[in-house]
Amino acid sequence: MAKRGMLIVLSGPSGVGKGTVRKEIFSEDSNNFDYSISMTTRQKRPGEVDGKDYYFVTKEEFEKEIAEDGMLEYAQYVDNYYGTPLKYVNEMLDAGKDVFLEIEVKGAMQVRKKVPDGLFIFLTPPDLMELRQRIINRGTDDLATINKRMEKAKDEIEMMQNYDYAVVNDEVPKAAEKIKTIIRAERWRVKRFLPDYKKQLGDVK
Ligand code: 5GP
Repeated sequence: MAKRGMLIVLSGPSGVGKGTVRKEIFSEDSNNFDYSISMTTRQKRPGEVDGKDYYFVTKEEFEKEIAEDGMLEYAQYVDNYYGTPLKYVNEMLDAGKDVFLEIEVKGAMQVRKKVPDGLFIFLTPPDLMELRQRIINRGTDDLATINKRMEKAKDEIEMMQNYDYAVVNDEVPKAAEKIKTIIRAERWRVKRFLPDYKKQLGDVK
């Protein structure tokens, strides 16, 4: 049986640029990990594609998945559901592939409980003014939603202490590079490396 893959969780406040950084990481095909596409009940933004950016579903469909234990984690975020379908993640991990999730903090904390040996990375803005500006520049949210997202962001930054690594998103290519470096190093952490290595040593005795 293949060695079970590593679960990599990238999280951080909305608008910090998780999606952009994630796309930068995945623009290189030398990655040895797969992206888990989330499910959401929010409206599709212009340019978003169903099955690529998200699985866009109705509230009823999402609640059915929850009832059938189909979600690894989920959260209600600014009036919508967002969640990670469990089946794909398990299949990939069982096949020995590392899986990358890009999710908000409440969901990440559920994953932390269920998968304590995951790798948890917090992407954070250089400062809050910059974060507000980024949400405004995206041009997809009205003022009330922007204010809700900013309030939420302050609470979310408090959660950083529960993560393994923090990466400041000052420039997207730099942040992406730092995350790739963290993932590379994490694969060589003794607790991940030793079990298999011991088996190998056993073989040559
Ligand atoms: P947006 O509406 O900007 O695409 O996403 C809003 C927030 O939901 C972002 O912080 C995003 O990372 C988060 N998010 C996206 N997918 C998931 C998911 O599957 N689970 C959770 N918990 N959060 C998610």
